[in-house]
Amino acid sequence: MTAVCGTCPPVVMDRFAWSRSSWPRVCPLLSGTDTTVETERESAGIMVEHVASVELPVDERLKIEKYRWKPSPDKDGGGRFSVVTGIHGDELEGQYVCYEVGKRIREHPELLTGTVDIYPAMNPFGIDSMMRGIPAFDLDMNRIFPGQKDGDMNEYLASLIIQDVSGSDMVLDIHASNAYLTEVPQIRINTLHQKELVPYAESMNVDLIWVHPNATVLESTFAYSLNSIGTRVLVIEMGIGMRITKSIGCQVTEGIFHLMHQMGIWAGKTGPVKKPIISTDPDEICYLNAPRGGIYIADTAAGDEVEKGQVIGRLVSPLTGEIFETVTAPYSGWLFTQREYPLTAAGSLMGRILKRG
Ligand SMILES: [Zn+2]
Repeated sequence: MTAVCGTCPPVVMDRFAWSRSSWPRVCPLLSGTDTTVETERESAGIMVEHVASVELPVDERLKIEKYRWKPSPDKDGGGRFSVVTGIHGDELEGQYVCYEVGKRIREHPELLTGTVDIYPAMNPFGIDSMMRGIPAFDLDMNRIFPGQKDGDMNEYLASLIIQDVSGSDMVLDIHASNAYLTEVPQIRINTLHQKELVPYAESMNVDLIWVHPNATVLESTFAYSLNSIGTRVLVIEMGIGMRITKSIGCQVTEGIFHLMHQMGIWAGKTGPVKKPIISTDPDEICYLNAPRGGIYIADTAAGDEVEKGQVIGRLVSPLTGEIFETVTAPYSGWLFTQREYPLTAAGSLMGRILKRG
């Protein structure tokens, strides 16, 4: 399907076939047009809302939806908890968490004592087309926050998202590494917000809290933008891109209900949570970068304890059967990031070790 969009050159509109170069970066017709916000009450106490709804040039509409769970008025303590995922379209672990949270509330709505908002797809076209960024724009959605009301379409959408989520008492922004690496469930916190956020993160049943001056917390991210205006956001990295790891999803779901219980949003019983390792010293993290290219054959898994000198993988040649490089652990510690995608270039990340001892 080909369309002519105002003064822009013809563009291909099939969203599954968008190429990054086929769509103008800023299209005048897409700049903040059609701000219809539709609300549909599905049944008492449950609402599907369109956070943003923008008309596209040819018979398509981009909608960002949320599902709102409201307690009965006599039980409403006034708190609000938001679960956000899908800012990166190739990260699907959060889809399972959203499903599990919704399922458990659906089974026992009488235990809800606050509002829960589920935002499963902040970048819906990225999810549809299995792309990390926003298709056709060559844009990482997590670098355009807080957005601008009068900006181009994506900046406009970002501004609506911030407007909608702000005011939550807690927001979880769930990410899933990428297609290359597995991460143990961890929460990453900017040093600036450490004091405020670590106590909440400790309730989230994750394995690691990584406090870092800039890890996943750049100024243009969703989390930084909201944290800097007083809406608390915890960024979760877990599992691997393009996949769902049920065990990890269940672990984090348990954490969500535990934290909701502590915050007076869920009256149901919750079990004990893991005591996470808290890392605040950048020097205790060792990055394992490939010394050369090759096919990486891992001998370890994410979450393994490794000894200094232990073989953790090999870079090999499928052509000649040679071992280019035997990769050993430079430190004893905890391998909390593990490379999964075999094709490896020089410098590629093969893992991260939290040093011990
Ligand atoms: Zn991500």
